[in-house]
Parts: sequence; C-alpha cells; structure tokens
Amino acid sequence: MNEQLTIGNAISEVASRIQAACERAGRSADEVTLIAVSKTMPVEAIREAMACGMVDFGENRPQELRDKQAVITEPLRWHMIGSLQTNKLKYVVGKTVLIHSVDSLHLAQAIQDASAKQGIVSDVLLEINIAGEESKHGIVPAELLGLVEELAHFPNIKVRGLMTVAPYTETPEENRCYFRKMKQLMVDINSKNIDNITMDMLSMGMTGDYEIAVEEGATLVRVGTGIFGHRVYPPKE
Ligand SMILES: *Cc1c(COP(=O)(O)O)cnc(C)c1O
Repeated sequence: MNEQLTIGNAISEVASRIQAACERAGRSADEVTLIAVSKTMPVEAIREAMACGMVDFGENRPQELRDKQAVITEPLRWHMIGSLQTNKLKYVVGKTVLIHSVDSLHLAQAIQDASAKQGIVSDVLLEINIAGEESKHGIVPAELLGLVEELAHFPNIKVRGLMTVAPYTETPEENRCYFRKMKQLMVDINSKNIDNITMDMLSMGMTGDYEIAVEEGATLVRVGTGIFGHRVYPPKE
C-alpha cells in the first residue's frame, strides 16, 4: 500500500476498483457497501474518512468501539467485525447496525437476550471458517444449517447473511474458490425456505482480495489497510 496516499485518495481508489469489479461481474456498484475498517486508527483518521463521505465503519474490539462512539457522536453506521465475548455485548448490541461475527449458538443466545432486553431486533451475520483453517474463528460449513434452524426461532435476532475472513495470501485469485463457496452456501440455505430466514448479505473481501470477493458476490467489503494504511497494534489488554 502506498503510504503517501491520503485517506481521501485511498477511498476513491478502492471505490473505483469496486466499481470496476462490479462491471466485470455484471453487477451494479450500489449492491456493494464499502466498510472502512478503522480498528487501531485514531479518531482523526475516522473524521478524515467521514469528510470523504464514508458512513460505514468496522471495529473489532468492543471497548475501542465504545471509546470512539463516546467522541464521534455523528450518526455513523458501525459494524462489529471481531470475535465477541458475551460479557462485552453491552458495548455492541443496540450500538451497531450489524454484527458480522456470530459463530456459536451460545453467542447468538446472548445477543438474543440483550436485544430482547432493549426491545430491538439485532441484524447479524454468521461467520464461516470457509477454508477450515485451525487458527480462524467461524463455524464450519457443515454446521451452518443446524445453527440457522435454531436461530430461526430467535425473535430478537435477524440473520441477514454470512461473513468470512479468507486465508491470507499474496495471490488473491487463490481465494476465489472460497468466495464462490460462500455464495453457494447462502444460496443453498435460502433454497431450504426456512421460516424467518432470508439471507441477502455476504461480508467478504479485505484489502488483499476485495476485488475478487466483489466479482464473486460480496455485498459488504471490509477494507482497513487499503484506506488507512498499515496498522500498529497496541499491546493486548
Ligand atoms: C482487520 C480486519 C479487516 C481489514 O483488514 P485489511 O487487510 O486491513 O483490509 C477486515 N475484516 C476483519 C474481520 C478484520 O479483523
């Protein structure tokens, strides 16, 4: 990534690459939402992206989300994209437009309870470990249908679709098969006509591979480095 690029220029660059990928795939660019992944980035960087018209931001740590929301009070669309512990849900439920990272019945139950308490319905995605990587979060595809059938009975959760973090690779073309599998998984679930379940969102593609993901049907791409430059991680809490 070219560090000289301003955030505004980087956003334009990513947006035009998304547009081109849509054209290659015969899709309309308004089917794809670009989420600026602002984890570890300071509030000033988020404000710079906001000034360029960005409204969708992704964070992966609940406390960091809370701290940023305390300072940035404009009505942004915050996405929780990181793995979640049930004791941190108070910073997430009712404070985000979409939780991308539901990977267990246990977590879904806790989101259900917290949402019921607030009298809201929470939109969620189910995170899939599409390449079966040991280091990754997410449910394996074989467990998806069973989980979806359980969640269909949760009145305060709406399953909107699927999310994945594809393997790290220098050659993004290698991830095309995984993105294609994700799309097929969603089509398969929809074809079961489960009451209360219609999925239309696919959150996939990051800085290294979002163009391929868009070609294969992504509706939400999560781009951090490609917008804000490289991250320096703070020490673990
Ligand atoms: C950090 C992160 C991203 C963005 O990664 P980049 O490679 O910087 O674009 C996307 N999705 C998730 C779940 C992340 O944790």
